[in-house]
Amino acid sequence: MLSYLAPDHYFNNFYEISPEFLLSLGCKYLFSDVDNTLAPYEVAEPDERISAWIRAVSDAGISIVLVSNNGPERIELFNRTLGVHAYADCKKPTKKRLGAIMNELGATRENTVFLGDQIYTDVLSARRLGAHAAILVPPIRDKKSLFFRFKRLMERPVMWRFRRKQAKKTQA
Ligand SMILES: [Mg+2]
Repeated sequence: MLSYLAPDHYFNNFYEISPEFLLSLGCKYLFSDVDNTLAPYEVAEPDERISAWIRAVSDAGISIVLVSNNGPERIELFNRTLGVHAYADCKKPTKKRLGAIMNELGATRENTVFLGDQIYTDVLSARRLGAHAAILVPPIRDKKSLFFRFKRLMERPVMWRFRRKQAKKTQA
């Protein structure tokens, strides 16, 4: 279970993920979370760094698909200047809606990569859909609530497993 949930790749920030790296994974569709992955909750519209990264990834021939559990007001406003595929109320980590979106876009397991800040939401969605890879970034702004602190605690053993996997890879 811990290995199942461990991400395949970990970056400190979304903008450190280069288009070349995504292409090397065989990524044609990048299903990206929004809140705390690309921007904190209270930032309604993307800044230049987000826009530039989205443009660079799109220019590499990768379709960006914003998939959020947040509502349509948030996602439509965030996507207003970006104009990428964007879906609200995705109900991650359940796979029904995400699977339908993949079908609608013609994305396959092999060419779909997931990006998000939550192991039990974003990485788990990737696993359930059989996506080719799951990339994790730390949440941009951690919520201080007890619930979020509990989630962080739950993620700790998964991340230990991830680091062990990485250590083994570099030894090999
Ligand atoms: Mg998030």
